Amino acid sequence: MNKKDAQNAATASDCNKDSEERLRRLVDILQHPSESIQEFLDYALKQAIELTESQIGYIYHYHEDRKEFVLNTWSVEVMKDCKVEKQETTYKLDKTGIWGEAVRQRRPIVINDYQERNPLKKGCPKGHVPLTNFLTVPIFKNKKIVGVVGLANKETDYDESDILNITLLMKAVWTVTESKKVEEALRSSEEKLKTIIETSPDGIAISSMDGMVEFVTAQSVAMWGYDSPDEMIGRNILEFVHESYHEKAIYFMTEMINGHLTGAAEYLMVKKDGSLFYCETNANVLKDKNKNAIGVLHIERDITERKKLEEELKDLAIKDQLTGLYNRRKIDQVLMKEKDEADYLAVIMADIDMFKLVNDEYGHLVGDQVLMEIAAILTKGIRKTDILGRWGGEEFIIICTDTDLEGATVLAEKLRELVAAHYFNGVGKKTCSFGVAQLRKDETIDELLLRSDLALYRAKERGRNRVEQEICRANTIKK
Ligand code: GH3
Ligand code: MG
Ligand code: MG
Repeated sequence: MNKKDAQNAATASDCNKDSEERLRRLVDILQHPSESIQEFLDYALKQAIELTESQIGYIYHYHEDRKEFVLNTWSVEVMKDCKVEKQETTYKLDKTGIWGEAVRQRRPIVINDYQERNPLKKGCPKGHVPLTNFLTVPIFKNKKIVGVVGLANKETDYDESDILNITLLMKAVWTVTESKKVEEALRSSEEKLKTIIETSPDGIAISSMDGMVEFVTAQSVAMWGYDSPDEMIGRNILEFVHESYHEKAIYFMTEMINGHLTGAAEYLMVKKDGSLFYCETNANVLKDKNKNAIGVLHIERDITERKKLEEELKDLAIKDQLTGLYNRRKIDQVLMKEKDEADYLAVIMADIDMFKLVNDEYGHLVGDQVLMEIAAILTKGIRKTDILGRWGGEEFIIICTDTDLEGATVLAEKLRELVAAHYFNGVGKKTCSFGVAQLRKDETIDELLLRSDLALYRAKERGRNRVEQEICRANTIKK
Protein backbone atom coordinates (compact mmCIF):
# COMPACT_ATOMS: atom_id res chain seq x y z
CA MET A 1 0.00 0.00 0.00
CA ASN A 2 1.47 3.38 -0.93
CA LYS A 3 1.13 6.46 1.21
CA LYS A 4 -1.87 7.88 -0.67
CA ASP A 5 -3.75 4.60 -0.49
CA ALA A 6 -2.97 4.40 3.21
CA GLN A 7 -4.34 7.93 3.68
CA ASN A 8 -7.49 7.05 1.72
CA ALA A 9 -7.93 3.88 3.76
CA ALA A 10 -7.56 5.90 6.97
CA THR A 11 -10.19 8.42 5.80
CA ALA A 12 -12.53 5.61 4.82
CA SER A 13 -12.12 4.00 8.21
CA ASP A 14 -12.73 7.41 9.90
CA CYS A 15 -15.89 7.72 7.83
CA ASN A 16 -17.07 4.30 8.86
CA LYS A 17 -16.33 5.06 12.49
CA ASP A 18 -18.24 8.31 12.14
CA SER A 19 -21.32 6.72 10.69
CA GLU A 20 -21.14 3.90 13.21
CA GLU A 21 -20.99 6.45 16.02
CA ARG A 22 -23.85 8.41 14.48
CA LEU A 23 -25.95 5.28 14.15
CA ARG A 24 -25.19 4.27 17.72
CA ARG A 25 -26.30 7.69 18.98
CA LEU A 26 -29.42 7.60 16.84
CA VAL A 27 -30.40 4.19 18.19
CA ASP A 28 -29.70 5.51 21.66
CA ILE A 29 -31.94 8.54 21.07
CA LEU A 30 -34.74 6.41 19.64
CA GLN A 31 -34.60 4.02 22.54
CA HIS A 32 -34.50 6.74 25.15
CA PRO A 33 -37.81 6.69 27.01
CA SER A 34 -39.27 10.17 26.68
CA GLU A 35 -42.66 11.40 27.79
CA SER A 36 -42.83 14.34 25.41
CA ILE A 37 -41.32 15.80 22.27
CA GLN A 38 -39.52 18.35 24.45
CA GLU A 39 -37.85 15.60 26.41
CA PHE A 40 -37.03 13.64 23.27
CA LEU A 41 -35.35 16.64 21.62
CA ASP A 42 -33.52 17.50 24.83
CA TYR A 43 -31.94 14.08 24.71
CA ALA A 44 -31.23 14.36 20.97
CA LEU A 45 -29.42 17.66 21.62
CA LYS A 46 -27.33 16.10 24.34
CA GLN A 47 -26.29 13.37 21.89
CA ALA A 48 -25.55 15.91 19.13
CA ILE A 49 -23.30 17.85 21.51
CA GLU A 50 -21.41 14.72 22.46
CA LEU A 51 -21.14 13.48 18.87
CA THR A 52 -19.49 16.73 17.75
CA GLU A 53 -17.54 17.14 20.99
CA SER A 54 -19.19 20.52 21.50
CA GLN A 55 -19.82 22.17 24.87
CA ILE A 56 -23.21 23.74 24.33
CA GLY A 57 -26.08 23.79 21.87
CA TYR A 58 -29.70 24.54 21.14
CA ILE A 59 -32.61 23.36 19.05
CA TYR A 60 -35.17 25.78 17.70
CA HIS A 61 -38.31 24.95 15.76
CA TYR A 62 -38.70 27.18 12.74
CA HIS A 63 -41.98 28.33 11.14
CA GLU A 64 -41.38 29.42 7.56
CA ASP A 65 -44.81 30.97 7.21
CA ARG A 66 -44.28 33.25 10.23
CA LYS A 67 -40.48 33.53 9.76
CA GLU A 68 -40.20 32.76 13.43
CA PHE A 69 -38.02 30.60 15.67
CA VAL A 70 -39.57 28.87 18.68
CA LEU A 71 -37.19 27.52 21.27
CA ASN A 72 -37.37 23.85 22.02
CA THR A 73 -34.31 23.53 24.15
CA TRP A 74 -30.98 24.97 25.19
CA SER A 75 -28.37 22.59 26.45
CA VAL A 76 -28.13 22.36 30.21
CA GLU A 77 -24.66 23.93 30.26
CA VAL A 78 -25.95 27.00 28.49
CA MET A 79 -28.80 27.37 30.90
CA LYS A 80 -26.37 27.10 33.79
CA ASP A 81 -23.99 29.75 32.53
CA CYS A 82 -26.35 32.02 30.64
CA LYS A 83 -26.88 35.36 32.35
CA VAL A 84 -28.91 36.99 29.57
CA GLU A 85 -31.52 38.97 31.43
CA LYS A 86 -34.48 38.67 29.10
CA GLN A 87 -34.47 35.18 27.64
CA GLU A 88 -36.85 34.98 24.74
CA THR A 89 -38.44 31.77 23.55
CA THR A 90 -39.49 33.09 20.15
CA TYR A 91 -37.42 35.13 17.70
CA LYS A 92 -38.34 36.75 14.42
CA LEU A 93 -35.90 35.79 11.66
CA ASP A 94 -35.02 39.41 10.87
CA LYS A 95 -34.07 40.01 14.52
CA THR A 96 -31.52 37.20 14.59
CA GLY A 97 -27.80 37.59 14.17
CA ILE A 98 -25.43 35.02 12.85
CA TRP A 99 -27.40 32.05 14.16
CA GLY A 100 -30.28 32.93 11.81
CA GLU A 101 -27.92 32.60 8.83
CA ALA A 102 -28.63 28.87 8.51
CA VAL A 103 -32.19 29.84 7.61
CA ARG A 104 -31.32 32.89 5.55
CA GLN A 105 -28.74 30.99 3.50
CA ARG A 106 -30.63 27.68 3.74
CA ARG A 107 -27.40 25.80 4.48
CA PRO A 108 -25.15 24.85 7.39
CA ILE A 109 -22.94 27.66 8.70
CA VAL A 110 -19.58 27.10 10.40
CA ILE A 111 -17.59 29.78 12.19
CA ASN A 112 -14.42 28.45 13.67
CA ASP A 113 -12.96 31.65 15.04
CA TYR A 114 -15.86 33.34 16.65
CA GLN A 115 -13.79 36.19 18.01
CA GLU A 116 -12.76 37.25 14.48
CA ARG A 117 -14.72 40.08 12.99
CA ASN A 118 -17.62 38.74 10.98
CA PRO A 119 -20.07 40.90 9.07
CA LEU A 120 -22.88 38.48 9.90
CA LYS A 121 -22.48 38.81 13.65
CA LYS A 122 -24.81 41.23 15.40
CA GLY A 123 -23.10 40.67 18.72
CA CYS A 124 -24.21 38.55 21.64
CA PRO A 125 -26.57 39.91 24.25
CA LYS A 126 -25.02 40.92 27.55
CA GLY A 127 -24.50 37.87 29.74
CA HIS A 128 -24.40 35.39 26.84
CA VAL A 129 -22.10 32.38 27.30
CA PRO A 130 -18.77 33.20 25.55
CA LEU A 131 -18.40 31.45 22.22
CA THR A 132 -15.22 30.19 20.59
CA ASN A 133 -16.58 28.43 17.56
CA PHE A 134 -20.03 27.64 16.23
CA LEU A 135 -21.96 25.35 13.89
CA THR A 136 -25.59 25.74 12.90
CA VAL A 137 -27.49 23.37 10.64
CA PRO A 138 -30.98 23.84 9.19
CA ILE A 139 -33.35 20.86 9.35
CA PHE A 140 -35.42 20.38 6.23
CA LYS A 141 -38.72 18.65 5.69
CA ASN A 142 -40.28 18.65 2.22
CA LYS A 143 -37.91 21.45 1.20
CA LYS A 144 -39.10 23.61 4.09
CA ILE A 145 -36.92 24.50 7.06
CA VAL A 146 -38.64 23.16 10.17
CA GLY A 147 -35.88 23.58 12.71
CA VAL A 148 -32.31 24.62 13.39
CA VAL A 149 -29.74 23.06 15.59
CA GLY A 150 -26.78 25.06 16.86
CA LEU A 151 -23.62 23.72 18.48
CA ALA A 152 -20.67 25.63 19.87
CA ASN A 153 -17.35 25.61 21.66
CA LYS A 154 -15.74 22.53 20.24
CA GLU A 155 -12.04 22.13 21.22
CA THR A 156 -11.01 21.75 17.59
CA ASP A 157 -12.54 23.24 14.45
CA TYR A 158 -15.93 22.17 13.16
CA ASP A 159 -15.53 20.37 9.83
CA GLU A 160 -17.51 18.73 7.05
CA SER A 161 -17.87 15.54 9.04
CA ASP A 162 -19.58 17.46 11.89
CA ILE A 163 -21.95 19.04 9.37
CA LEU A 164 -22.73 15.64 7.81
CA ASN A 165 -23.18 13.96 11.19
CA ILE A 166 -25.53 16.61 12.52
CA THR A 167 -27.48 16.92 9.26
CA LEU A 168 -28.13 13.17 9.10
CA LEU A 169 -28.71 12.73 12.82
CA MET A 170 -31.16 15.61 13.04
CA LYS A 171 -32.98 14.56 9.87
CA ALA A 172 -33.65 11.18 11.45
CA VAL A 173 -34.52 12.77 14.80
CA TRP A 174 -36.97 15.15 13.14
CA THR A 175 -38.75 12.34 11.30
CA VAL A 176 -39.32 10.65 14.64
CA THR A 177 -40.39 13.99 16.15
CA GLU A 178 -43.06 14.33 13.49
CA SER A 179 -44.51 10.91 14.22
CA LYS A 180 -44.26 11.67 17.96
CA LYS A 181 -46.22 14.86 17.32
CA VAL A 182 -48.97 12.86 15.58
CA GLU A 183 -48.86 10.39 18.47
CA GLU A 184 -49.15 13.22 21.02
CA ALA A 185 -52.03 14.82 19.13
CA LEU A 186 -53.75 11.45 18.90
CA ARG A 187 -53.17 10.78 22.56
CA SER A 188 -54.53 14.19 23.45
CA SER A 189 -57.64 13.73 21.27
CA GLU A 190 -58.06 10.25 22.71
CA GLU A 191 -57.83 11.75 26.20
CA LYS A 192 -60.44 14.35 25.24
CA LEU A 193 -62.74 11.66 23.89
CA LYS A 194 -62.22 9.58 27.00
CA THR A 195 -63.13 12.55 29.20
CA ILE A 196 -66.24 13.22 27.13
CA ILE A 197 -67.29 9.58 27.36
CA GLU A 198 -66.55 9.32 31.06
CA THR A 199 -68.28 12.55 32.06
CA SER A 200 -71.31 12.12 29.84
CA PRO A 201 -74.42 11.59 31.97
CA ASP A 202 -75.70 9.36 29.18
CA GLY A 203 -74.68 5.74 28.95
CA ILE A 204 -72.62 4.81 25.90
CA ALA A 205 -72.39 1.31 24.48
CA ILE A 206 -71.03 -0.30 21.35
CA SER A 207 -72.40 -3.52 19.94
CA SER A 208 -71.20 -5.66 17.07
CA MET A 209 -73.28 -5.82 13.92
CA ASP A 210 -74.92 -9.00 15.21
CA GLY A 211 -75.95 -7.28 18.44
CA MET A 212 -73.30 -8.44 20.89
CA VAL A 213 -72.26 -5.87 23.49
CA GLU A 214 -68.58 -4.99 23.00
CA PHE A 215 -68.16 -1.87 25.11
CA VAL A 216 -70.14 -0.13 27.86
CA THR A 217 -69.34 2.95 29.93
CA ALA A 218 -69.62 3.09 33.71
CA GLN A 219 -72.84 5.09 33.28
CA SER A 220 -74.43 2.26 31.27
CA VAL A 221 -73.30 -0.27 33.85
CA ALA A 222 -74.87 1.84 36.62
CA MET A 223 -78.04 2.47 34.62
CA TRP A 224 -78.68 -1.27 34.26
CA GLY A 225 -77.65 -1.90 37.86
CA TYR A 226 -74.66 -4.13 37.10
CA ASP A 227 -71.39 -4.12 39.02
CA SER A 228 -68.91 -4.17 36.16
CA PRO A 229 -68.81 -3.89 32.34
CA ASP A 230 -67.78 -7.56 32.15
CA GLU A 231 -71.27 -8.56 33.23
CA MET A 232 -72.69 -6.89 30.13
CA ILE A 233 -70.00 -7.41 27.50
CA GLY A 234 -70.49 -10.43 25.24
CA ARG A 235 -74.26 -10.57 25.78
CA ASN A 236 -76.91 -9.77 23.19
CA ILE A 237 -78.31 -6.23 23.56
CA LEU A 238 -81.85 -7.66 23.51
CA GLU A 239 -81.14 -9.24 26.90
CA PHE A 240 -81.23 -5.72 28.35
CA VAL A 241 -84.47 -4.76 26.61
CA HIS A 242 -87.90 -5.83 27.92
CA GLU A 243 -89.50 -8.60 25.85
CA SER A 244 -92.43 -6.39 24.89
CA TYR A 245 -89.97 -4.07 23.14
CA HIS A 246 -87.94 -6.71 21.25
CA GLU A 247 -89.95 -6.34 18.06
CA LYS A 248 -89.52 -2.56 18.10
CA ALA A 249 -85.80 -2.87 18.85
CA ILE A 250 -85.23 -5.33 16.00
CA TYR A 251 -87.23 -3.18 13.59
CA PHE A 252 -85.32 -0.01 14.56
CA MET A 253 -81.92 -1.70 14.37
CA THR A 254 -82.63 -3.22 10.95
CA GLU A 255 -83.93 0.05 9.54
CA MET A 256 -81.01 1.98 11.04
CA ILE A 257 -78.39 -0.46 9.68
CA ASN A 258 -80.03 -0.21 6.26
CA GLY A 259 -79.71 3.57 6.46
CA HIS A 260 -83.47 4.25 6.53
CA LEU A 261 -83.75 5.56 10.04
CA THR A 262 -81.96 7.68 12.59
CA GLY A 263 -82.92 9.43 15.79
CA ALA A 264 -84.12 8.44 19.19
CA ALA A 265 -86.45 5.66 20.24
CA GLU A 266 -87.88 4.81 23.64
CA TYR A 267 -87.58 1.35 25.14
CA LEU A 268 -88.53 -0.36 28.34
CA MET A 269 -85.30 -1.82 29.74
CA VAL A 270 -84.61 -4.57 32.25
CA LYS A 271 -82.10 -4.06 35.06
CA LYS A 272 -79.92 -6.78 36.55
CA ASP A 273 -82.39 -7.18 39.44
CA GLY A 274 -85.31 -7.49 37.01
CA SER A 275 -86.74 -4.04 37.67
CA LEU A 276 -87.73 -1.95 34.68
CA PHE A 277 -86.88 1.53 33.47
CA TYR A 278 -87.57 3.63 30.42
CA CYS A 279 -84.63 4.55 28.25
CA GLU A 280 -84.27 6.76 25.21
CA THR A 281 -81.71 5.33 22.84
CA ASN A 282 -79.94 7.01 19.96
CA ALA A 283 -78.25 4.43 17.79
CA ASN A 284 -75.92 4.91 14.87
CA VAL A 285 -73.79 2.67 12.69
CA LEU A 286 -70.03 2.92 13.27
CA LYS A 287 -67.99 2.71 10.09
CA ASP A 288 -64.29 2.18 9.37
CA LYS A 289 -62.34 4.41 7.00
CA ASN A 290 -63.56 2.38 4.02
CA LYS A 291 -67.15 3.04 5.11
CA ASN A 292 -67.72 -0.57 6.12
CA ALA A 293 -70.11 -0.98 9.05
CA ILE A 294 -68.17 -2.30 12.03
CA GLY A 295 -70.63 -1.90 14.87
CA VAL A 296 -73.44 0.10 16.39
CA LEU A 297 -73.05 2.98 18.81
CA HIS A 298 -75.83 3.39 21.37
CA ILE A 299 -76.29 6.51 23.47
CA GLU A 300 -78.69 5.77 26.29
CA ARG A 301 -80.60 8.10 28.55
CA ASP A 302 -82.69 7.01 31.52
CA ILE A 303 -86.04 8.75 30.97
CA THR A 304 -87.96 7.19 33.87
CA GLU A 305 -88.26 10.58 35.56
CA ARG A 306 -89.34 12.27 32.34
CA LYS A 307 -91.93 9.55 31.72
CA LYS A 308 -93.26 9.97 35.24
CA LEU A 309 -93.50 13.71 34.73
CA GLU A 310 -95.26 13.19 31.41
CA GLU A 311 -97.76 10.87 33.10
CA GLU A 312 -98.28 13.38 35.88
CA LEU A 313 -98.88 16.14 33.34
CA LYS A 314 -101.29 13.92 31.43
CA ASP A 315 -103.08 13.15 34.69
CA LEU A 316 -103.15 16.80 35.59
CA ALA A 317 -104.97 17.55 32.35
CA ILE A 318 -107.65 14.91 32.79
CA LYS A 319 -107.97 14.37 36.53
CA ASP A 320 -109.44 16.28 39.42
CA GLN A 321 -106.78 17.11 41.99
CA LEU A 322 -108.84 16.58 45.14
CA THR A 323 -110.49 13.25 44.39
CA GLY A 324 -108.24 11.83 41.65
CA LEU A 325 -111.37 11.18 39.53
CA TYR A 326 -111.66 12.23 35.90
CA ASN A 327 -112.40 15.93 35.54
CA ARG A 328 -115.21 17.48 33.56
CA ARG A 329 -113.02 17.91 30.47
CA LYS A 330 -112.19 14.23 30.31
CA ILE A 331 -115.82 13.25 31.01
CA ASP A 332 -116.96 15.46 28.12
CA GLN A 333 -114.51 13.65 25.83
CA VAL A 334 -115.68 10.22 26.99
CA LEU A 335 -119.32 11.19 26.50
CA MET A 336 -118.69 12.37 22.91
CA LYS A 337 -116.79 9.20 22.13
CA GLU A 338 -119.27 6.81 23.72
CA LYS A 339 -122.20 8.57 22.07
CA ASP A 340 -120.87 7.28 18.74
CA GLU A 341 -119.49 3.94 19.87
CA ALA A 342 -121.78 2.48 22.57
CA ASP A 343 -124.99 0.69 21.68
CA TYR A 344 -126.70 2.00 24.80
CA LEU A 345 -125.52 4.86 26.93
CA ALA A 346 -126.83 5.91 30.34
CA VAL A 347 -125.57 8.49 32.82
CA ILE A 348 -126.01 8.76 36.56
CA MET A 349 -125.74 12.19 38.15
CA ALA A 350 -125.04 12.13 41.91
CA ASP A 351 -125.11 15.04 44.37
CA ILE A 352 -124.29 14.97 48.06
CA ASP A 353 -127.29 15.81 50.22
CA MET A 354 -127.04 18.87 52.46
CA PHE A 355 -123.30 19.10 51.90
CA LYS A 356 -123.20 22.77 52.78
CA LEU A 357 -123.92 21.76 56.36
CA VAL A 358 -120.70 19.76 56.53
CA ASN A 359 -118.68 22.79 55.52
CA ASP A 360 -120.62 25.06 57.84
CA GLU A 361 -120.36 22.75 60.83
CA TYR A 362 -116.94 21.14 60.46
CA GLY A 363 -115.08 23.42 58.09
CA HIS A 364 -113.93 23.16 54.49
CA LEU A 365 -111.14 20.65 55.18
CA VAL A 366 -113.53 18.13 56.68
CA GLY A 367 -115.84 18.83 53.71
CA ASP A 368 -112.96 17.93 51.40
CA GLN A 369 -112.38 14.73 53.35
CA VAL A 370 -116.02 13.72 52.90
CA LEU A 371 -115.77 14.47 49.16
CA MET A 372 -112.73 12.19 48.89
CA GLU A 373 -114.40 9.42 50.86
CA ILE A 374 -117.51 9.51 48.68
CA ALA A 375 -115.28 9.46 45.57
CA ALA A 376 -113.65 6.31 46.96
CA ILE A 377 -117.03 4.65 47.74
CA LEU A 378 -118.27 5.36 44.20
CA THR A 379 -115.00 4.13 42.64
CA LYS A 380 -115.34 0.85 44.51
CA GLY A 381 -119.03 0.51 43.72
CA ILE A 382 -119.02 0.96 39.95
CA ARG A 383 -118.39 -1.79 37.39
CA LYS A 384 -115.28 -2.10 35.23
CA THR A 385 -116.98 -0.60 32.21
CA ASP A 386 -118.38 2.42 34.06
CA ILE A 387 -116.54 5.72 33.96
CA LEU A 388 -116.70 7.93 37.02
CA GLY A 389 -115.90 11.64 37.17
CA ARG A 390 -116.29 14.72 39.35
CA TRP A 391 -118.83 16.83 37.55
CA GLY A 392 -118.76 19.90 39.77
CA GLY A 393 -118.31 20.94 43.41
CA GLU A 394 -120.05 18.03 45.15
CA GLU A 395 -121.56 16.42 42.10
CA PHE A 396 -120.40 13.23 40.46
CA ILE A 397 -121.21 11.58 37.16
CA ILE A 398 -121.07 7.93 36.14
CA ILE A 399 -121.10 7.06 32.44
CA CYS A 400 -122.53 3.60 31.94
CA THR A 401 -121.65 2.22 28.51
CA ASP A 402 -123.82 -0.45 26.89
CA THR A 403 -126.21 -0.15 29.81
CA ASP A 404 -129.89 0.72 29.59
CA LEU A 405 -131.94 2.86 31.95
CA GLU A 406 -132.86 -0.06 34.19
CA GLY A 407 -129.28 -1.29 34.48
CA ALA A 408 -128.05 2.20 35.36
CA THR A 409 -130.87 2.60 37.91
CA VAL A 410 -129.85 -0.64 39.62
CA LEU A 411 -126.27 0.61 39.82
CA ALA A 412 -127.37 4.01 41.15
CA GLU A 413 -129.45 2.30 43.85
CA LYS A 414 -126.45 0.20 44.86
CA LEU A 415 -124.25 3.31 45.07
CA ARG A 416 -126.91 5.14 47.10
CA GLU A 417 -126.96 2.31 49.63
CA LEU A 418 -123.16 2.17 49.84
CA VAL A 419 -122.93 5.90 50.65
CA ALA A 420 -125.82 5.78 53.09
CA ALA A 421 -124.24 2.84 54.91
CA HIS A 422 -120.91 4.55 55.32
CA TYR A 423 -119.86 6.24 58.52
CA PHE A 424 -117.88 9.42 57.87
CA ASN A 425 -115.33 10.02 60.57
CA GLY A 426 -116.28 12.99 62.73
CA VAL A 427 -119.29 13.75 60.58
CA GLY A 428 -121.45 10.66 60.83
CA LYS A 429 -123.88 9.65 58.09
CA LYS A 430 -124.23 11.39 54.74
CA THR A 431 -126.35 10.55 51.76
CA CYS A 432 -126.46 11.25 48.04
CA SER A 433 -129.31 11.76 45.59
CA PHE A 434 -129.15 10.26 42.10
CA GLY A 435 -130.67 11.14 38.72
CA VAL A 436 -130.53 8.57 35.90
CA ALA A 437 -131.18 9.00 32.16
CA GLN A 438 -130.53 7.01 29.00
CA LEU A 439 -129.47 8.53 25.68
CA ARG A 440 -132.32 8.78 23.19
CA LYS A 441 -132.08 8.43 19.43
CA ASP A 442 -130.92 11.74 17.87
CA GLU A 443 -130.44 13.29 21.30
CA THR A 444 -127.41 15.45 22.05
CA ILE A 445 -125.18 14.87 25.05
CA ASP A 446 -126.28 18.22 26.47
CA GLU A 447 -129.91 17.12 26.29
CA LEU A 448 -129.06 13.83 28.02
CA LEU A 449 -127.23 15.67 30.81
CA LEU A 450 -130.11 18.07 31.22
CA ARG A 451 -132.55 15.18 31.66
CA SER A 452 -130.32 13.42 34.19
CA ASP A 453 -130.11 16.73 36.06
CA LEU A 454 -133.90 16.97 36.03
CA ALA A 455 -134.11 13.46 37.52
CA LEU A 456 -131.61 14.46 40.20
CA TYR A 457 -133.64 17.59 40.97
CA ARG A 458 -136.71 15.42 41.36
CA ALA A 459 -134.80 13.11 43.77
CA LYS A 460 -133.92 16.15 45.88
CA GLU A 461 -137.50 17.38 45.75
CA ARG A 462 -138.88 14.03 46.79
CA GLY A 463 -136.81 13.93 49.98
CA ARG A 464 -133.15 13.25 48.97
CA ASN A 465 -131.22 9.93 49.45
CA ARG A 466 -133.11 8.50 46.47
CA VAL A 467 -132.73 7.54 42.83
CA GLU A 468 -134.98 9.04 40.16
CA GLN A 469 -135.13 8.13 36.45
CA GLU A 470 -135.92 10.12 33.37
CA ILE A 471 -138.00 7.54 31.54
CA CYS A 472 -137.60 6.99 27.79
CA ARG A 473 -140.17 5.36 25.57
CA ALA A 474 -138.84 2.18 24.00
CA ASN A 475 -138.89 3.55 20.45
CA THR A 476 -136.85 6.60 21.36
CA ILE A 477 -133.83 4.91 22.90
CA LYS A 478 -130.57 4.80 21.04
CA LYS A 479 -129.73 1.62 19.20
P1 GH3 B 1 -128.46 19.77 48.47
O1 GH3 B 1 -128.88 18.58 49.28
O2 GH3 B 1 -129.66 20.52 47.99
O3 GH3 B 1 -127.58 19.40 47.41
O4 GH3 B 1 -127.76 20.71 49.47
P2 GH3 B 1 -126.25 21.14 49.44
O5 GH3 B 1 -125.92 21.84 50.71
O6 GH3 B 1 -125.41 19.95 49.16
O7 GH3 B 1 -126.22 22.01 48.17
P3 GH3 B 1 -125.65 23.41 47.89
O8 GH3 B 1 -125.56 23.60 46.40
O9 GH3 B 1 -126.46 24.42 48.66
O10 GH3 B 1 -124.17 23.39 48.45
C1 GH3 B 1 -123.10 22.69 47.89
C2 GH3 B 1 -121.91 23.05 48.70
O11 GH3 B 1 -120.78 22.29 48.34
C3 GH3 B 1 -121.52 24.48 48.55
C4 GH3 B 1 -120.01 24.48 48.46
O12 GH3 B 1 -119.39 25.27 49.43
C5 GH3 B 1 -119.64 23.05 48.69
N1 GH3 B 1 -118.55 22.64 47.92
C6 GH3 B 1 -118.44 22.62 46.57
N2 GH3 B 1 -117.20 22.19 46.23
C7 GH3 B 1 -116.50 21.91 47.37
C8 GH3 B 1 -115.20 21.46 47.65
O13 GH3 B 1 -114.41 21.16 46.80
N3 GH3 B 1 -114.86 21.31 48.96
C9 GH3 B 1 -115.73 21.59 49.97
N4 GH3 B 1 -115.31 21.42 51.22
N5 GH3 B 1 -116.95 22.05 49.71
C10 GH3 B 1 -117.36 22.22 48.46
MG1 MG C 1 -124.85 20.53 44.24
MG1 MG D 1 -125.65 18.92 47.30
